[in-house]
Amino acid sequence: MTLMIPFDNSYARLPNSFYARQAPVPVRAPRLIAFNSDLAQILRITPGEVHEMAEAFSGNALPEGAEPIAQLYSGHQFGNYNPQLGDGRAVLLGETVGTDGVRRDIQLKGSGPTPFSRQGDGRAWLGPVLREYVVSEAMHALGIPTTRALAAVKTGEAIFREGPMPGAILTRVAQSHLRVGSFQIFAARGQLDSLRRLTDYAIQRHYPQADGPMGLLRAVVDAQSQLIAAWMSVGFIHGVMNTDNCSISGETIDYGPCAFMDNYHPNTVYSSIDRMGRYAYSNQPEIAVWNAAQLATALIQQFDDKEAAVAEATEIVHGMPDLMQQNWLARFRAKIGLVTQEDGDLEMISDLLNCMAQNQADFTNTFRALGGDQARDQFTDPQAFDQWARGWRSRLSREKKPAEVINKANPTFIPRNHRVEQMIQAAVQGDFAPFHRLNNVLSRPYGDQPGALDLTRPPAQDEVVQATFCG
Ligand code: AMP
Ligand code: MG
Ligand code: MG
Repeated sequence: MTLMIPFDNSYARLPNSFYARQAPVPVRAPRLIAFNSDLAQILRITPGEVHEMAEAFSGNALPEGAEPIAQLYSGHQFGNYNPQLGDGRAVLLGETVGTDGVRRDIQLKGSGPTPFSRQGDGRAWLGPVLREYVVSEAMHALGIPTTRALAAVKTGEAIFREGPMPGAILTRVAQSHLRVGSFQIFAARGQLDSLRRLTDYAIQRHYPQADGPMGLLRAVVDAQSQLIAAWMSVGFIHGVMNTDNCSISGETIDYGPCAFMDNYHPNTVYSSIDRMGRYAYSNQPEIAVWNAAQLATALIQQFDDKEAAVAEATEIVHGMPDLMQQNWLARFRAKIGLVTQEDGDLEMISDLLNCMAQNQADFTNTFRALGGDQARDQFTDPQAFDQWARGWRSRLSREKKPAEVINKANPTFIPRNHRVEQMIQAAVQGDFAPFHRLNNVLSRPYGDQPGALDLTRPPAQDEVVQATFCG
């Protein structure tokens, strides 16, 4: 093999109660769909022949140094505690320390059953694999912390969802796959040595400056507050913010039924399984606090003096809404061109958002258009915008370069739902051109790309995606 991955696997050196050793289950006829060479370079990977990479990123041939494991965790799913989840369709091959000094996991997702699969088949189909590839890379290009996509492979096997679907495997890269649920499982089982060991590991790996478990909690709260504000600023709805999908590193993880909003409305939900709207767009900040409270509850178990720990954890979690609000305000100030801070700013942003909700304004296109003079066209009643804009323009007169600020804070290109769906349908028919085009255009989301204006267009009535699925 010429493919070389300089593995250095720290998680596999932890006690074997943290995971199950599990090799990927070979597939019939792997074919490489995509390989992310920019990311490979950061990971210090030496690429190999196409057929070798298809073998490696399908799990049919393990690259030297890989130590495949399925990680153990639990978590709250839609508010209910599930005492054991774990990687049911993924294996961690190992880690590398990149050219930037950052340690990252390399994981195959869709690589076959593991001891944690429960009723699942351990597999993924092409749709969700390409969706995660495109959306996670788009997120990265938007400057938002996220797991990334190193490779996508077709397995040459059919898997069964609504009917037979082409199987696929995604190679996912993350600063780690530690989640709130990784801590919850040891806390719930009263395995305090493991809980302490994991806490030390997370601190060392992600927040070396953090002081003990409460320092870790503070760092995660800070990272999650920044992350959620960033999501809100691009109209992103994660869709399944369960505690097992809430990462300790503060990266966006688990692109299942996620979606970017077209028309702005705070109650927007796409996920077919989120019937109560628990994870609706505007609920995300509150859910992040709820998840942080679950992490706090888990971390506290390791203290002998629980009273002091509870007091400190409470103070940290109770401070999170404010922290999130500050990050949100900074993001949205920039979206309307403000660098300086004045008292009425929050109200001005809220007024705009209300006006957008009442006038079916496209979230992305409206904010982007604030840098020019076409924004009013986004509103069913353009005069409603004009009225808001009078106050806004006088506020802008006290800013130096608002158009520049607006264009930096507001992308032109996001992975619109209907484009992602069309791309998947084409791929199922064997046409991967839309997939490659989306990746290419979305890698430069803030520029104007005259050849890609069709990708800025909101869905036509018959293109609107009503619901998204986990796959
Ligand atoms: P998620 O909602 O995607 O975070 O997944 C929740 C749990 O279900 C995790 O433990 C997954 O590993 C597991 N899971 C999801 N899909 C499958 C599948 N097709 N086969 C086995 N396990 C799965
Ligand atoms: Mg998950
Ligand atoms: Mg998932």
